[in-house]
Amino acid sequence: TAASGGGLVAYADSAAESAPDPSQDAPRKKVVVLGTGWAGTSFLKNLDCSRYEVKVISPRNYFAFTPLLPSVTCGTVEPRSIIEPVRRMFEKKNKDVTFCEAECFKIDANRKTVHCRSAVGTNLDGNGDFMLDYDYLVVALGATVSTFNTPGVLEHCCFLKEVEDAQKIRKGVIDCFEKASLPNISEEEKRKILHFVVIGGGPTGVEFAAEMHDFLVEDLVKLYPAIQDLVKITIIQSAEHILTMFDERIASFAEQKFKRDGIEVCTGFRVIKVSDDLITMKRKSDGEELSVPYGMAVWSAGIGTRPVVMDFMQQIGQTNRRALATNEWLRVRECEGVYAIGDCATVSQRKIMDDISTVFKMADKDNSGTLTLKEINGVLDDICIRYPQVELYMKSMHMLDIADLIKGAVGDSHKESMVVDIEEFKKALRHVDSQVKNAPATAQVAAQQGQYLAQCFNKMEKCREEPEGPLRMAGGSGRHFFRPFRYKHFGQFAPLGGEQAAAELPGDWVSMGHSTQWLWYSVYASKQVSWRTRVLVVSDWTRRFIFGRDSSR
Ligand code: FAD
Ligand code: MG
Ligand code: MG
Ligand code: MG
Ligand code: MG
Repeated sequence: TAASGGGLVAYADSAAESAPDPSQDAPRKKVVVLGTGWAGTSFLKNLDCSRYEVKVISPRNYFAFTPLLPSVTCGTVEPRSIIEPVRRMFEKKNKDVTFCEAECFKIDANRKTVHCRSAVGTNLDGNGDFMLDYDYLVVALGATVSTFNTPGVLEHCCFLKEVEDAQKIRKGVIDCFEKASLPNISEEEKRKILHFVVIGGGPTGVEFAAEMHDFLVEDLVKLYPAIQDLVKITIIQSAEHILTMFDERIASFAEQKFKRDGIEVCTGFRVIKVSDDLITMKRKSDGEELSVPYGMAVWSAGIGTRPVVMDFMQQIGQTNRRALATNEWLRVRECEGVYAIGDCATVSQRKIMDDISTVFKMADKDNSGTLTLKEINGVLDDICIRYPQVELYMKSMHMLDIADLIKGAVGDSHKESMVVDIEEFKKALRHVDSQVKNAPATAQVAAQQGQYLAQCFNKMEKCREEPEGPLRMAGGSGRHFFRPFRYKHFGQFAPLGGEQAAAELPGDWVSMGHSTQWLWYSVYASKQVSWRTRVLVVSDWTRRFIFGRDSSR
C-alpha cells in the first residue's frame, strides 16, 4: 500500500500491487491484449508468455508498419511488404498465445471481461459474439481519425490510417489521372480532377504530399504527358507553419522545398466544409471564406478516440478526455488490472507539488525540520525517477545541480551550509511541474510502452517482494522495483520527396538533405519487424529506383 512505501513513493500504485501468485501450482493468470499495432505487438514480443495464459484480440490478423504507409499510397512500396502476420510473429510462442480475429466492442471492468465480435463471420446460430475474462487487460487499441465534426469529411475525404486506406488512395490517384485523360473533358474540369488536396500539415500529410509529387515528376509525367501541366498539389494547414512538431529549421526547409516543387502550402486556413467537388476553408486571421474545386482530398488533420475506448472511459469516470489516463506505470487510473499503452493512452504524471510535504519529510533524515544540501542530494536521484519534471526543469534552466535550484529560493548563500525550510523548498520547486509533457502519439512511444509493460509483467513476482522501489529509502536496496515508464526520444524523420529528408535527432541535432534520406532508408530498413518484410521493402525500393513505380491499378 502507499503508506508502507512512505506516501511519496506511491510505488505500490504500480503493477506489483496485484502481482500474480508466485507458487508454481497456481493456474496461470489470464492476460488479454486488445490490438496488434505497435504497442500490442511490442508488448507481446517482450512478454515471457509462458508465465501467463495470453489471448490476443484484433480485427486484423497482421501488424502494419505505419511509417511506410505514405509510401504505399503511390506504389513506392507494396502493401504486402509492410505487414507481418500476427500468427507468424508469435510462431514460437503459439502454445501460450491464442489469437482471435475479432473486434472488442465492450470492456466490462467490473466483471473483468471483454465482449468481442468475430471479424470473420458467425457460428451456425448466427452468433459471432463471445466473451473473455481476464486477470490483466492490456488495452492497445490505438486511435482513429478525427474529423472535428467537419461536414462532408467522412463522405468525401480519404484517410491515411490503415493499409486499406493507403490502397484506396493509390487507386484514387490513378483513377483521377485516367479520368482526366478521357477525351470529352474540358480543361477546367481536368484541372479540378487533378487537384490533390492534403488537409493537415503534420508529418503524415507532408510525407504524402511529397510522395505524390515524386510520383508525378518521376513517373506520371512520362505516362500522361498531355495532362502533366494541369496537376496541382495543395496542403492546407491551420497553424502558421507545417510540421510544427519539428524544429523550426526543418519546417522552413520543408516549406521552401515545397515552394520550389510547386506544392502550394496554405497555412492559417481551417477547412470548414467539404462537398463532392469543393473544399471550403476559412482564413483564421480575417475569417474570409474560400472554396476550391478538387479531385481528391486526403484528410490527415487529427486523431480521435475509438468508440470502445470512449465507452470504457465513461464507465470508469474518465470523461472529457481524448485518451485513457494511466499512472506512470501505465496502469489505468482507478482500474484494477487494466493497463493502457500506445495512442489510446496518456500517462498522467504526478505533480511534485502535490506530494511536496512528503518529499520534504523523506529527505529530512534527521527530522530537523530543515534540509541541508546533503540531505536533498541524498534523495535527488529518487526524486528525479519519480518526478522526471525536476530533471527536465533543471536542464531547461541550465542548472548544473540542485544547489542552483535552491539558491533561487534562499538567496545566494554559501552552497555547503545552505539550509532550507519547507516554504523555501516549495518555492524552489514551484515551477517544476510546468515541465510535465505528454508523450506524442507515435510508434516510437507505443513500442517503448509495450516493451516496458512486458518487462513489468515479467518481473511481477520479484517485484512483489519489494514493490515500493528505491524511494522506500529506509533499508531498501531498490533492486526489484518498477521504475516508472519514461520515454526516450531517439529522433524523428520527415521525408520530403526528391530523395531528400529532414531529421531531428537527440541533442538538438538537425540534419537535412540527400544524406538524411539515406539515413532514413537505413533506419527504416533496420526497423522492419522481420527479415521477410525487410527484404520485401528493400526490394520494393530497388525496383522503384530501376523501373519506377507501378501506375496500374
Ligand atoms: P495502432 O498501431 O493503431 O494499433 C491499434 C490496433 O488495435 C490495431 O491492430 C487495430 O487493428 C486494433 N484494433 C482496433 N480496433 C479494435 C477493436 N475494437 N478491438 C480489438 N482491436 C482493435 N509514428 C512514428 O513514430 N513514426 C512515423 O514515421 C509514423 N508514421 C505514421 C504514418 C502514418 C500514415 C500513420 C497513420 C501513423 C504514423 N505513425 C508514426 C504513428 C504510429 O503509427 C502510431 O503512433 C502507432 O501505430 C500507435 O500504436 P498503437 O499500438 O497504439 O495503435
Ligand atoms: Mg497496438
Ligand atoms: Mg500499427
Ligand atoms: Mg499515448
Ligand atoms: Mg534536516
